[in-house]
Amino acid sequence: MKNIFKPSGRFSIVGMFGTLIIGIIVAIIAGLIAYGFSYYLDFSIPLLFPFLIGASVGLATQTYGEKIGKSRNQFLSILTAVLCAIIAWSTIHVADFVVFRNHVYSDILIELPYLDPGEVKQVFNYWLIDETGNGGIVGFLLLKAYSSNVEFSYIFSGATTPPLFNITGIGLFIYWFVELGIIVLMAVVMNKDYARKPYCEKCGVRRMISFPVFGDDSNIDDVVAQIEAGDIVSALDSLTENEDGNLAKLVIEHCPNCFDSLYAELIVVKDVGPKTWIDQTAWNGKLQPDDIKTILEYEE
Ligand SMILES: [Zn+2]
Repeated sequence: MKNIFKPSGRFSIVGMFGTLIIGIIVAIIAGLIAYGFSYYLDFSIPLLFPFLIGASVGLATQTYGEKIGKSRNQFLSILTAVLCAIIAWSTIHVADFVVFRNHVYSDILIELPYLDPGEVKQVFNYWLIDETGNGGIVGFLLLKAYSSNVEFSYIFSGATTPPLFNITGIGLFIYWFVELGIIVLMAVVMNKDYARKPYCEKCGVRRMISFPVFGDDSNIDDVVAQIEAGDIVSALDSLTENEDGNLAKLVIEHCPNCFDSLYAELIVVKDVGPKTWIDQTAWNGKLQPDDIKTILEYEE
């Protein structure tokens, strides 16, 4: 069966905005859970969390992009997934930064208890800039890369068990980008196709392909003439008279809800040699919803 479905490119602005919001919420929760595991439980399996985060974000954007976003626009579907994936990855590092910053703030206040919050912030930033050349989260990431950090630690890499790997410097940056790549890739793979799938715009559900009626090709010219005359019941009767011909089948692509048809094809399967068959199109076109219903309910 030829795939003649062309996605309309349409989408619901409100629905896609909602999908983005849901995707961002899932991304932040997934990022915080991953961060919580590595920080509080000292538990991390390399590349497993990015994989799970990517899958969660991908599933959320795919499900809601199709259901409420009604996106038939592949680019927009992928873009939504990529944005949420980047936010999930950023959440891990922002959480890391905030926790670190608060620790340093309290350390500064122990040393210099007379400072007000604004001054504490300034001291922290000066210190980061002094150490790394950059303030804020960029300075923090650089600091983390410069110092010995345990990113690759298997289960229970606490004080008693030495970590299996230490990655620092440029290696740590590469590792972070590999994590980002995995999250983005997972989300993209899960979101790249749904907008192109045959879809009933009226009902908001996917169309399906059915092969409800089989027969043979001994009356195939009559069958085609009857379909073209709109006499579906006679066509089905002629098709299923069952003499000794080649197999013929009617394939329909339709909405399971309103029976709107996208495409229908009458195919003759020709036996052309030892264990070799070829499909030949005897007729193709579009049928009316009533005809689709008749075909689906037809019994010989
Ligand atoms: Zn429909």
